[in-house]
Amino acid sequence: MKVLVIGRGGREHAIIWALKKSARIEQIYCAPGNAGTAELADNVDIGELEFARLVTFAKEKAIDLVVVGPDDPLAAGIVDEFEAASIPVYGPRKNAAEIEGSKIFMKDLLRKYDIPTAKYETFTDYEAASAYLMQQSLPIVIKADGLAAGKGVSVCFTREEADKALQETMVDKSFGAAGDKVVIEEFLEGQEMSILAFVDGETVRAMSPAQDHKQVFDNDKGPNTGGMGTYSPLPHIAQSIIDDSIENIIKPTARAMVSEGRPFRGVLFAGLMITKDGPKTIEFNARFGDPETQVVLPRLETELLDIFLASIDGTLKDIDIKWSAEAAVCVVLASGGYPGSYPKGFPIEGLDNVSTPGALVFHAGTALKDGQIVTNGGRVLGIVGRGAGIAEARANAYAAAAGISFEGKQNRTDIAAKALV
Ligand code: ATP
Repeated sequence: MKVLVIGRGGREHAIIWALKKSARIEQIYCAPGNAGTAELADNVDIGELEFARLVTFAKEKAIDLVVVGPDDPLAAGIVDEFEAASIPVYGPRKNAAEIEGSKIFMKDLLRKYDIPTAKYETFTDYEAASAYLMQQSLPIVIKADGLAAGKGVSVCFTREEADKALQETMVDKSFGAAGDKVVIEEFLEGQEMSILAFVDGETVRAMSPAQDHKQVFDNDKGPNTGGMGTYSPLPHIAQSIIDDSIENIIKPTARAMVSEGRPFRGVLFAGLMITKDGPKTIEFNARFGDPETQVVLPRLETELLDIFLASIDGTLKDIDIKWSAEAAVCVVLASGGYPGSYPKGFPIEGLDNVSTPGALVFHAGTALKDGQIVTNGGRVLGIVGRGAGIAEARANAYAAAAGISFEGKQNRTDIAAKALV
């Protein structure tokens, strides 16, 4: 089989690493990929949003399966394009990817089907939004409707912050058209948890849960990032809460999408807050999380290829998905300055002598320049440690991370610490 993976992050590197376990795969291409995917696949210099070129390439190479990593091409309808060309593709169609692409669509769906989420109102008019905001208690959360690379959400603790966030989103258009509409929602208090699920319409097969660390600095300080580290499983979260989330949030949402005529096929990713009233939905994503994927897929014992193919065929119910009992912790090594601006092009040292047992190095913002792997993005590498429990996996991740260096390297030192107390 020939597979084309679309994307350039640590998520795509981890997907390719997991696909490689299938003997049936003869070749993997990655468009556009990074220096890490180049070691396992053939990188193809085509961007994620160049649909016509991607389809032509897939036809030329007689690709048997396309796997789409990132949110932007899914929201723009890449799956529909491949389907129109009769090329098997794993991911939700445009009308199903809207669950991530429009927060208003997602919130209205959850309200209609009575699925737990924060109370909210939606606005298209700044004056009306501002008047509503004045009557709400603090903290309050303001969200741009569309995709804004994780930056369109403001959790506001003062009126001034809330006013500023609303103005930036609706008047200054800091997130472009994504901020034409906003959601203003109740602040939820609790611990966050991510549950990703393989879904083929009706059938939901939840993956082992993970926790992300969004803020750039230790103790959840500093601005939000794409994610500075993750771990899985979550030994400090009761199984009953995980089951409750799957039964009362993820499965009903998949059923609701079917009822709406938008069956979801792909990875449905629930961002949840475990509140004192039980788990509630913060967001849905329509794809694998990055860096959740880097800790979840190394624990997957079933072949990922089989899961993808069964999802496309609608036979996911026939597959028994197995998870390893071991733990995985991912520490992201980022460029100095990230998530603000940062320089690129620094040589990365130590990649060849990672000797920690079980450690995996997933590349994100890396490139190959004159035979040397250099930094090429904000999040540069995801270093995964594995072990019998979180403590061992965490020690392995940090030991491996310590051996890798580049100018300006920054990482959090408290990934998975919450799971140890
Ligand atoms: P990303 O793409 O980074 O996942 P996003 O733009 O889709 O983010 P959300 O996941 O909806 O945005 O929100 C980002 C973060 O803001 C959440 O992980 C959570 O920490 C916080 N947040 C969002 N909504 C709420 C809420 N109602 N109450 C408390 N915190 C919230």
